[in-house]
Amino acid sequence: MNAKKLIPAILAVATLVAACSAQYALNIKVRSTPPVRKDKVVKTDAQWKKILTPTQYTILRAKGTEAAFCGKFHDKKEPGIYICAGCKLPLFSNDHKFESGTGWPSFYRPIKEENVWYRNDGSHGMDRIEILCARCDGHLGHAFDDGPKPTGWRYCLNSDAMLFEAAKGK
Ligand SMILES: [Zn+2]
Repeated sequence: MNAKKLIPAILAVATLVAACSAQYALNIKVRSTPPVRKDKVVKTDAQWKKILTPTQYTILRAKGTEAAFCGKFHDKKEPGIYICAGCKLPLFSNDHKFESGTGWPSFYRPIKEENVWYRNDGSHGMDRIEILCARCDGHLGHAFDDGPKPTGWRYCLNSDAMLFEAAKGK
């Protein structure tokens, strides 16, 4: 192989190596106002109370947090997707779920980036990033930058903010 052929070959291998080790960069930007969507779901507290269980209401509408290891999804491994308990928007997939050991269901990315949004949360003396549903603005959990590859993010969720839909067939 002469030098003219060798250089493109080396470049091709280098590009391939770079692509394989590339991190999947999530666009996690905190904002102060909810994203605008055509399919926005807006309800009064009284309307939410009618359609949500008390636990769902406490988490989604009053920013509650379920106790670690007590939620119904923290050790669930079945194929399927997790949808918002308030508005049914698909939020997370079992494909991106990992065992974080925290006792809360943990994912390294949402199913679609535009289905969630982020807000600064300084409550409880902590500086955290709150995760909210992009359609109904319900509180889902918090995002931390100590997650696994390929994103490096850990989406720490409340089980009761979500419903599970098992994958159909195989
Ligand atoms: Zn929602």
